[in-house]
Amino acid sequence: MNPWIAKAVVLAGTVVMVAIRAPHGQRSRSVKVAKSHKTSLETGLLVLAWVGFFVPLIWIASPAFSFAEYPLSAGPLVAGVMCLVIGLWLFYRSHADLGTNWSITLEVREQHRLITQGVYRRIRHPMYSALLLYSVGQTLVIPNWAAGPSNLIAVAVLFALRVRAEEKMMVQQFGDEYAAYSARTKRLVPRVW
Ligand code: SAH
Repeated sequence: MNPWIAKAVVLAGTVVMVAIRAPHGQRSRSVKVAKSHKTSLETGLLVLAWVGFFVPLIWIASPAFSFAEYPLSAGPLVAGVMCLVIGLWLFYRSHADLGTNWSITLEVREQHRLITQGVYRRIRHPMYSALLLYSVGQTLVIPNWAAGPSNLIAVAVLFALRVRAEEKMMVQQFGDEYAAYSARTKRLVPRVW
């Protein structure tokens, strides 16, 4: 199959993702940060996330990764598109449910509320589930072993190195309320983990 199909899919997914995030990024600038838990590790993880995000765009726009191409086939393309669509839906829903409590890094906002409803009802990290699904989708769609998994590696490392610090911050902020919420929810996949 023509790799331009994969390029069009990845570009469309990226445009939708940016369109979902942009209004929240803009609004979050107007909500004051009550307490920042941003460490130098967090800064490094954000840089890694940006690199993971941009590599597929470089693959679309340039021959930089042509050494790692392989033929595109229909099965991974279809499975990947499904992951991208579900991931983007969950990304949209988790932003809608978190509202002004969202931050790109570890921060507590003024008048921060603990969200336990909507897509937060059964899992504590639906936005990370969304990003993982989305990046699995990219890995399947992009017929390139270097550019394909770049986002997945970045998101997996971000999740692995951030999740404990984030949950600790939430316990500090919300105490028993977060402990009870943790006890009745899973992290990424409802009923599983
Ligand atoms: N880990 C969550 C949120 C990612 S955004 C998810 O994957 O869906 C990261 C910020 O969201 C954190 O800095 C924290 O301030 C905020 N946050 C995380 N879980 C929250 C919750 N249940 N209610 C309110 N804010 C939350």
